[in-house]
Amino acid sequence: TELTAEKFDLVVVGGGPSGATLAALVAKQGHRVLLLEKEKFPRYQIGESLLPSTVHGVCKLLGVAEEVEAAGFVKKLGGTFRWGANPDPWTFTFAISPKIAGPTSHAFQVERMKFDQILLDNARRVGVQVREECSVNSIIDDGDRVTGLRYTDVDGTAHEISATIVADCSGNRSRIHQHTGGKRVYSEFFQNVALFGYFEGGKRLPAPRNGNILCEAFEDGWFWYIPLSDELTSVGAVIARERVDQIQGDSEKALFKFIERSPLIQDMLSEARRVTEGPYGEIRVRKDYSYCDTAFWKPGMVLAGDAACFVDPVFSSGVHLATYSGLLAARSINSVLSGEVDERRSFTEFEKRYRREYGLFYEFLISFYDLHHDEQSYFWSAKKLTSAGASDAEAFVELVGGAASGDAALTAVTAGRRLASAADQLAQAVDSVRGQGGGDVDKPAPLLKAPIIGEVMQEGAQVQARAALGDDLGDEKPLFVDGLVPSGDGMTWKIPVS
Ligand code: FAD
Repeated sequence: TELTAEKFDLVVVGGGPSGATLAALVAKQGHRVLLLEKEKFPRYQIGESLLPSTVHGVCKLLGVAEEVEAAGFVKKLGGTFRWGANPDPWTFTFAISPKIAGPTSHAFQVERMKFDQILLDNARRVGVQVREECSVNSIIDDGDRVTGLRYTDVDGTAHEISATIVADCSGNRSRIHQHTGGKRVYSEFFQNVALFGYFEGGKRLPAPRNGNILCEAFEDGWFWYIPLSDELTSVGAVIARERVDQIQGDSEKALFKFIERSPLIQDMLSEARRVTEGPYGEIRVRKDYSYCDTAFWKPGMVLAGDAACFVDPVFSSGVHLATYSGLLAARSINSVLSGEVDERRSFTEFEKRYRREYGLFYEFLISFYDLHHDEQSYFWSAKKLTSAGASDAEAFVELVGGAASGDAALTAVTAGRRLASAADQLAQAVDSVRGQGGGDVDKPAPLLKAPIIGEVMQEGAQVQARAALGDDLGDEKPLFVDGLVPSGDGMTWKIPVS
C-alpha cells in the first residue's frame, strides 16, 4: 500500500450520474472532493430515457442545462404506449400539446456515453479531482465511523485515502454499499429480466412523437424502443421472471423471437439492422436490478443512486432517482461539512426524502404493471382519459408541463406568485382527475386518478422550480416531523423557523 496520506472532505466512489452530481454540488461549495471511477470514460451504461426534472432541474443546478440542450440529443416530448388489448397506441406528453409546450416541458433520449461524460467533465470543471481507472476495494472504519477507503489505480498501485465522508455512488454492482450495516432487499414484485441491443435504420413515429419512448406490451413482457439519433435505436425486452427460460442460450435468437411477437416493434424494425460492432454491438442481459438497501447511511458514509436502490426500467425513473438522490445527499453533506446541521439529522433527512421518492415510483410502477392483468386498469383508463379532448387529464398534464417549466412566467419578478397559483391549479386538477370515474373499489383506479402521479409530478416540478427560481421560490414546508427544508439556493438544508 502506498500511504499517500491524502485527505479529502468527501470521496465519491463512481462517476455515473449520481456520483458526478453529488461531487459537483459539494465541490461548488468550496469543499475538497475526490471522485474515483473504475472505468475510463466514455463508458457504456444503460438508462437512456430521461425525465424533465433531470435535464431542467438537476442539470440546471449543476450548470450543464445549456450544454445538455446543445448536445444534439433526441428531444423526448413524452411516451407512446401500446399496452393491453387495444391495437391503437396512445401517447403521454409532458406538455399536452407540442404547440403550447413551454421550453422545459421535454426531456432527452441520451447516449449515456455522452451524457455521463458531460456530467463528469462538469464535476472536474467545478473543482472535483477526478481519477479514472481507479477501483475502490474497501472501506476504512474506526469502529464508530467511516474514515476513508482503499483503491487500486490503473498501474495496480494500492492507495489509502482518508475522508470526512465517503459517498458510494458505484451503482448496482457496488462492492461497498453493505458497509452502512444494511442489506439489499430484492423486490418481490419486480423480478424482471432485461435483454437489449441496438439497431440502425429503425423507423420513427410521425412528428411530433418521433422522439418519444415507445413501449409495447406483449405476451412475455414489454419492449422499449428509444430513438437515440436519426439512425440509432435502443431496443430492449423486459421479461417476467417466470418466462426467463426463453432467454437461455442464444440471446440474439431470443431477442428476435420476442420482436416477432411484438407487431409494433417488428414493424418499426422491419428495415433495420442490428448493430454488431463497438460498444453497441453486444446483446446484453440484466437481472436482479430491483432492490432497496435497508440503510442508506452510517456516520461518515452515504449511498446514492443505484448503490442504494433501483425500481424498474419502465417510466425512466433511474437517472432521475440517481441525480435527485445526488442532490439530496449533496445538501446533507454540505450541511454537515459547514457544521450547520448535525450529521444524524442531516442524513436522516436525506434518507427519508430519498425513500419517499423511491416509494412513490415503486407504487406508481406497480400500478403501471397492473395493465398486464386488466385492460380496464391504469393504462387503459389513462388512454381513454388522454384522448378525450380537453379532459381533466389533458388539463392535468398540461398544467404539470406548465408548472414545471422554466419559461418566461418563471423568470419574471412575479415568478413566485405565478408558481404559487400554478401549484394551486395543479392541486385542483389532480383532485378533479382523482374524482372521475365512479367508485368501483374493486377495480384499480385509472392511472391519472392515482394520488401517486400527482405527487411524483409535484416533486419533479419542485426541483425544476427551485432550479429556475432559487431564492424566489420561498421556503418549502418540512416533509417530516423535525424535518429540514432546502436553503434558497437548494445546496444545503436549513432548520425551518417554527
Ligand atoms: P451508474 O450509472 O451505474 O454509475 C456507477 C459508476 O460507478 C460506473 O461508472 C462504474 O464504473 C463505477 N464503479 C463501479 N464500481 C466501482 C468501484 N469499485 N470503484 C470505482 N468506481 C466504480 N434509467 C433511466 O433513467 N431511463 C431508462 O430508460 C433506464 N432504463 C434502464 C433499463 C435497464 C434494463 C436497467 C437495468 C436500468 C435502466 N435505467 C434507466 C436505470 C439506470 O441505468 C440507472 O438507474 C443509472 O445508471 C444509475 O446511475 P448511478 O450513477 O447510480 O450508477
